Order: sequence, then C-alpha cells, then structure tokens
Amino acid sequence: MDEMPGKVYLVGAGPGAPDLLTLRAAEILKRADVVFHDALVHPQTLELAARAKKIAVGKRSGRHSTAQKFINKRLVDAARGHKIVVRLKGGDPLLFGRAQEEIDALRKAGVDFEIVPGVTAATAAAAELGLSLTRRGLARHVAFVTPRAAEGERENDWAASVLSADTAVIYMGAGLAEAISAELIKRGKPKDTPLVLVESATLPERRVLHGTLADLPELARRTGEGPAVVLLGEVLKAALAEPAAAAKEIEALFKRA
Ligand code: SAH
Repeated sequence: MDEMPGKVYLVGAGPGAPDLLTLRAAEILKRADVVFHDALVHPQTLELAARAKKIAVGKRSGRHSTAQKFINKRLVDAARGHKIVVRLKGGDPLLFGRAQEEIDALRKAGVDFEIVPGVTAATAAAAELGLSLTRRGLARHVAFVTPRAAEGERENDWAASVLSADTAVIYMGAGLAEAISAELIKRGKPKDTPLVLVESATLPERRVLHGTLADLPELARRTGEGPAVVLLGEVLKAALAEPAAAAKEIEALFKRA
C-alpha cells in the first residue's frame, strides 16, 4: 500500500479545563494543519491550533452528530492532503470515544497514526472530590462502565460490573438515571450505596451532587446540560457533606476489611 504523506494524531483533550492537556498534545496542536474536534472541547484548547482548520464533529455540535463512518473517511482523506491531522477528543481518546473505529479505518487505509492519552472524566471527577478511587483497604477493583449502547451494538452486562466492582464510575449515565438506579437495586446493590454525581468536572460551572444509589434519579434531575459522571461505592463516603462523620465511618469499614 502507498505511504500517505500525513499522519493522524488521536489526541485526548482532557475533561474540560484547558490546562489539563498534556504538553505533547499542546505541541501537536501547535503544528496541526487540520483539527477534527468533539463539540465539548474548550475554545482555549482549540486556540492552540493557531494555524489549523478546525472542524467540529461529534455530538453536541448543535447539529446532528456526524456519522462515525463519515468521520473515519474524513480523517483518511485529510491525511492525503495534510501533514498533521488531529482528531481531538474529550477526556482520554481511548475511553468511550469510538476511537477503535477510527484506528481501524486508518490502519485499513495505511495511514500512519499516533495516540496521545488524556485525563479521563473519572479521574478528573475523583480529583475534584479529593478522594482516591482505590482507597487502600476498601477498593481494589474499579469499573468504568456505560449503560449506553449504540444502535446495533450487542448488549453487555454493565450492571454486573458495577455490582462486582468496589468503585464504579458510570459514563453517559445521567440521562438513564432511573433505569440505572432501578436495575442496580433490583440486582442487589444496597440502596444506600454512597453515590456522587459530578457534572462538568474541572470547569467553572461544575456541579457536585451527593446522595445514595436510591437518590440517583432525583440528583440527575438537578443537573444541567453539562456532561456528568456517576461515581458509586464505599470510597465515596469520603465525599459526604460531613467529612468528620465520613472519616469515622470509613475508619470503621477499614477495620472490618
Ligand atoms: N473519552 C471521554 C469520555 C467520552 S463519553 C473521557 O475519557 O472522559 C462522554 C461522557 O464522559 C459524558 O457523558 C460524561 O459521562 C463523561 N464526561 C466527559 N467530560 C466530563 C466532565 N467534564 N465532567 C463529568 N463527566 C464528563
């Protein structure tokens, strides 16, 4: 297969705040000729790509989301005419971002590519809460899941992962809050499992709502339009409104463990 002149970089833009970008990502953006970006990428991050043509693709761009196949094709086409093509994705590009479809298309077309990781929403949210997802003695098993399946995608048992994990982070779940809460409770997850919903982590408009698994639908109703993750598990007790009481409870759990 002929070598293409251009290279495609799949770059993580981080969770929201423009300074949560890697230096490598910033360097590549500076040199980019074209940037295909998710709609949620911060304007200041896009400004780094001063010389690039910027093209919004993906959800929330105000219009219908660009079909994935079309994005794949545009990446391949862009690499034919440009040296540095960036596909800029929210968070880490390899988590819940359909990166594999893009990678497969690039491989198939013989286009050179490289992946630049980013800070994912789960760890950004945990950082804001000031707690470890793997608190020693309480959590050694973290699950990143989404109940949302694309059309035609096979069902998977996301709930089983949440049930068996010590700490779970649910992506793209705020709109499915009722179903998530009901399913997990039905399958035996305690109603009072500590839960926190973090909307727009790392951005000035961030919102943090505390409660339990049973409260999830109510918490989700109180969120706005921003992206949100749901964190649940005993480690979330540390994020409760009364830190002293929470610390005591955790200490007790820790002793039992
Ligand atoms: N690749 C991204 C995830 C893409 S899926 C990553 O690694 O973070 C989009 C989902 O990510 C949203 O529905 C939400 O669940 C989560 N998300 C992205 N940015 C977020 C933020 N700033 N705060 C909270 N959740 C966020």
